[in-house]
Amino acid sequence: MTAPLDVLIVGAGPTGLALATQLRAYGTGFRIVDRSLDRARESRAPAIQPRTLEMLAGPGVTADLVDRGSTAVRLQLHLRGRLLRVPVFDVGCDDSPYPFLLFLPQSETEAVLTERLAEGDVRVERGTELLSAEPRDALVTCRLRHGDGGEESVRARYVVGCDGAHSTVRAQAGIGFQGYSYPQTFLLADLEVDGLEPGAAHTFMTADGLLFFFPLGTPATWRMIAMHPPGAPAEKVTLTLFQRLADNWTTDGLTLRDPVWMTSFRLHNRGATHYRKGPFFLAGDAAHIHSPAGGQGMNTGIQDALNLGWKLAHVCRGAAPEELLETYEAERAPVGHGVRRLTDRAFTVGTNNHPALRLARNHLAPRFAPLLLRAPGLRARLFRTVSELGIHYRRSPASRTGPHRPAAGPRAGDRLPDQPAGLQRRTSAPGYHLLLTGPAHHWTRAPLTHGLVSVHHLGADSPWPGTAHALVRPDGYVGYAARGTDLTGLWAYLDRWLPGR
Ligand SMILES: Cc1cc2nc3c(=O)[nH]c(=O)nc-3n(C[C@H](O)[C@H](O)[C@H](O)COP(=O)(O)OP(=O)(O)OC[C@H]3O[C@@H](n4cnc5c(N)ncnc54)[C@H](O)[C@@H]3O)c2cc1C
Repeated sequence: MTAPLDVLIVGAGPTGLALATQLRAYGTGFRIVDRSLDRARESRAPAIQPRTLEMLAGPGVTADLVDRGSTAVRLQLHLRGRLLRVPVFDVGCDDSPYPFLLFLPQSETEAVLTERLAEGDVRVERGTELLSAEPRDALVTCRLRHGDGGEESVRARYVVGCDGAHSTVRAQAGIGFQGYSYPQTFLLADLEVDGLEPGAAHTFMTADGLLFFFPLGTPATWRMIAMHPPGAPAEKVTLTLFQRLADNWTTDGLTLRDPVWMTSFRLHNRGATHYRKGPFFLAGDAAHIHSPAGGQGMNTGIQDALNLGWKLAHVCRGAAPEELLETYEAERAPVGHGVRRLTDRAFTVGTNNHPALRLARNHLAPRFAPLLLRAPGLRARLFRTVSELGIHYRRSPASRTGPHRPAAGPRAGDRLPDQPAGLQRRTSAPGYHLLLTGPAHHWTRAPLTHGLVSVHHLGADSPWPGTAHALVRPDGYVGYAARGTDLTGLWAYLDRWLPGR
């Protein structure tokens, strides 16, 4: 029998590929399998959020994504003939090197991740399906079926289910998936549109619902999404149907042509009752599914993966205790829950047929949306949430403030901002980063860089005022922060979470 693996990743969608990229960066032993023979060619999720771009910059993926995608800097809201131009991420995202929404088809995002893995000699094993997974003697015995029908038994220390909404890993682990389905049917088409201003995302708000056009780029210029008109009989998905919806719901005389993909789909809002059970972990759609309102689904999955990857890597190499793995659910389940709640609210306001909401869409939105969206404070709050830059783990057991909290600056559990510019790049190498701030002579007996912790002197140009020290985790969140030069609390933190450094 072959030697056991550290990690088996089941599913090579964006979540599984992102996890593989991170495990590769740490040299962890793993395999990644996917039952489909080829990557999905349809675009599905069309947008990447600023926080995902920040987190993928470490493994060197972001530059390729940005090269291939297009950035949308504004949203055009069409409110009953009235046009409102809303700048996207112009406020609330100024501490990020990527203050924009990157439009790139999901198939391209997956292609970039797959290419990066191939450069590291990692092969995604396609046509390989997980049939069963059974924990036995501290290992999980997994039965895989290959494309030729042959079966293989593999033992792994940990199995991560990145295998989508109908997750086999979730079922094998006996983890529930609770929630509900929405009654509406949605229509999606990637196609060309004549008469639509390029370089912006367009939302047409009508009494009956919302109609979207997103600037996709490839394989077609536009992604159109609309709700099937309530009460209308179901009909075949054709270009004629999309043209009729555009004619009914817009006043711009748009001409639709050359569709490359048309489909209809139903939406669900469900979450896993646990993100971890023993040696099993769930990430991405296997752990949470919800409406695409706000473009959060794929992004949340990739960020699940990048929260879990370094933890598995550190535990597998004996540098961190098993307890570190418990923080995955503690940190990511609230994020998944929040995304489900947020997208549910946006979805309900945009689509529900209740007379009050129809009235709001028809009469109140055209009058009050311009006022609300002009308020920078409100826009900043909205963008901070949608961009996922506002995610924090302040309540995590792995977030700790020292005996003296810094007077200002990011707190333990917050994301490290890119302030001063370039700080995120400086701290992007795999491992922890200890940041020391204040005059150099305060740090004459500073700890030396070693093992999994790199030390950086920031001087006065730092997110924290005065003399302070902060430990940044491998995923770019502050694990420990304290004022002054007394490192006793820091050593206690490292002894707990990184004893094998
Ligand atoms: C029509 C549509 C439109 C969407 N629009 C948006 C959007 O606008 N914005 C957004 O953010 N998200 C959107 N999404 C959601 C987004 O596509 C998903 O959130 C994303 O694909 C989740 O990635 P994942 O890697 O977790 O799962 P998936 O992409 O579902 O990948 C799971 C993989 O696991 C494999 N697998 C399953 N079972 C097994 C098994 N037993 N053994 C081996 N392999 C297995 C599958 O073959 C698959 O490749 C949309 C989805 C759809 C369907």
